[in-house]
Amino acid sequence: MKKILLIISSLFLMASCINSQNSKKVKFNGPVYLDNNANIEDRVEDALSKMTLQEKIDLIHAQSKFSTPGVPRLGIPEIWCSDGPHGIRAQVYWDEWDQAGWTNDSCTAFPALTCLAATWNEDMSSLYGKSIGEEARYREKTVLLGPGVNIYRTPLNGRNFEYMGEDPYLSSTMVVPYIEGVQSNHVAACVKHFALNNQEEYRSETNVTVSDRALYEIYLPAFKAAVQKANVWAIMGSYNKYKNQFNCQNKYLLKDILRDEWNFDGAVISDWGGVHDTKQAAEHGLDLEFGTWTNGLTWSKSNAYDNYYLGQPYLKAIKKGELSVKDLEQKVKNDLRLIFRTTMSANRPYGSFNTPEHSAAGREIADEGIVLLKNENNTLPVDVKKYKNILIVGENATRSLCIGGGSSSLKVKYEISPLEGIKNMLRDMASHNSDFKDVKISYEKGYQHTKLLKSDNTIESKKSLDSRSALKLKNAAVEAAKKADYIIYIGGLNKDLNQDSEGQDRLTYDMPDGQNELISALSKVNKNLAVIILSGNGVAMPWVSDVPAIVEGWYGGSEAGNAIADVLFGKVNPSGKLPFTMPVKLEDNSAFALGDYPGDGENVDYKEGIFVGYRYADKYKVKPLFCFGHGLSYTTFKYGDIKLSSETLSEGDKMKVTIPITNIGSRQGKEVVQLYISDLECSVPRPVKELKGFVKLDLQPQETKIAEFEIDKSALSFFDANKHAWVVEPGKFEILIGSSSRDIRSKASFLEK
Ligand code: BGC
Repeated sequence: MKKILLIISSLFLMASCINSQNSKKVKFNGPVYLDNNANIEDRVEDALSKMTLQEKIDLIHAQSKFSTPGVPRLGIPEIWCSDGPHGIRAQVYWDEWDQAGWTNDSCTAFPALTCLAATWNEDMSSLYGKSIGEEARYREKTVLLGPGVNIYRTPLNGRNFEYMGEDPYLSSTMVVPYIEGVQSNHVAACVKHFALNNQEEYRSETNVTVSDRALYEIYLPAFKAAVQKANVWAIMGSYNKYKNQFNCQNKYLLKDILRDEWNFDGAVISDWGGVHDTKQAAEHGLDLEFGTWTNGLTWSKSNAYDNYYLGQPYLKAIKKGELSVKDLEQKVKNDLRLIFRTTMSANRPYGSFNTPEHSAAGREIADEGIVLLKNENNTLPVDVKKYKNILIVGENATRSLCIGGGSSSLKVKYEISPLEGIKNMLRDMASHNSDFKDVKISYEKGYQHTKLLKSDNTIESKKSLDSRSALKLKNAAVEAAKKADYIIYIGGLNKDLNQDSEGQDRLTYDMPDGQNELISALSKVNKNLAVIILSGNGVAMPWVSDVPAIVEGWYGGSEAGNAIADVLFGKVNPSGKLPFTMPVKLEDNSAFALGDYPGDGENVDYKEGIFVGYRYADKYKVKPLFCFGHGLSYTTFKYGDIKLSSETLSEGDKMKVTIPITNIGSRQGKEVVQLYISDLECSVPRPVKELKGFVKLDLQPQETKIAEFEIDKSALSFFDANKHAWVVEPGKFEILIGSSSRDIRSKASFLEK
């Protein structure tokens, strides 16, 4: 009898299971959010239906510097955010910005995003996202606050190093694999700062005026790609204003564009302290409020979290009937969706931290991002057969460049400085290559940045300061240079305030601390000179014609020094290309020449419109110091003739573009083949050319590969503000294939019908 009962009840159970699997709407009873195989929308609705009004309010604002409380009663977990975007930030105190002093939170620092963009390699972006996502997951973070994709409008923006350059196509392409990689770890990426946050000066109050055309063509595409191509789960509003509304509570950006035009279904997170008004935050599409009453960076110790704009003031307004529960519930749904996609998802991986694979990933990305700007007389790679006595000059050869910069400052497990990297390289090579025997390395600081760096309560030790005067430091370097066979200068910017750092912009285009004078003096006494700039921004190079070799080495993270050494000594053939234009002087940048920067504190007008970066330099015939897309190699690539699959392109068509590329040098190398499009007949002003495709080819000596591209009408269109739509006008177009934006090797034209 017992047996029969058991069989009947199991049959009943099976039937109800099958039934519930088949039925579209699952009816949950009890704490079923734990059934993490169920459909997310059902789980969201179910959770929402069980929450009290107070719990809903609690879910949408912070409970500490970086977390929200969840709903403990229902088992809905906290959300934990972390900066981003180059590594997982050290744990800070609950209510303070200072580091909490944990001993297990020293991370791997990956290269800065300018370096990633300079790889022009989507595989590097995917590797980056996957690796940093694993670190975030291991550290139990729900949301990684990055990547940043604000457009490089001027070289003075202190945060350019956290972004992906000046071109909407390049940044849109590179941002997608990063996000997918992060989210494959069930950690949300949070693309930032939406939108028009292209300067730090007056960032918290300034209102940006920009034409619709420039907004849609230049400043929005990378965010749109993050939403529509990468399905990013979170986005961060920016501090500044657009149309006189703060962007964390901005109807035009958050509702009209993000939700209505792009159908974003993730969570909108405020920048820390970016909310200023309950009604607007409630009604204009913000989902999570962080950091009220802080500048997001340094001030404010403790916070009355309940008093946040989306805390008690919101609850009171709802109770009085002034604000609607519907808006609140929409926020709760968006935040629950974030939780179900991450912390409460099925088959969540465990993540990993400081693994050899992460170090290797960081080094590979840095290797591929380093840009060889100039290389006369094959000055690089260093010929160690010829030059035995090598002098390294410059503070960046030894200074930490992972610390500082604001919220992206990192507490790292280790950081290989360029001087260490060079020493490692020579030691390793000497063990099996006799050319590297007897190479001697000496070091002179040459200059020093005397301001001490305070970030996350980590103050660079005073001990690292040299007691000699600036003049003495310089003279010592010049004297040593006279005796050396070869000089490697390693300088640039650093992560101090007014350098590459959040909160304030750079004050000048020059490198700080008398570096221009020092480089000029070195070039006068020794012609065997390679200058390595470590920075996230372009810098003035008044000595450019006196120096035979120049490298942009970026901020390379934990493996920075090894990567620099890889390129200097030829272990790696450089293949990075500039993701932005480096002008000769500030007046050659369009924000200075045509626009308005930094504005008057209340307003900044992007008068240059769409003519940003190379779009400006091309149109106004301004010769840059180094152009967008530029980067040399230790080998030479020959471009063959471009071929188009047809002579016309009509609606719905795709055109195939091919071109053979041959490595005609004697060593392996990678080349970024760039495709630009020129609209030759148009009723509105258009850029001379615009990037619409790129591929990176790896070629052995004498090897030929075909670079292949596919374009459709979207590559030809412009944003027509009157129609509020992307439009293509029929007529003649030209496709230009080049090794940079100014080194066009082959062209072909076609008709759009
Ligand atoms: C920055 C954000 C950062 C946040 C949290 C703000 O100051 O603008 O990019 O994610 O602080 O640290």
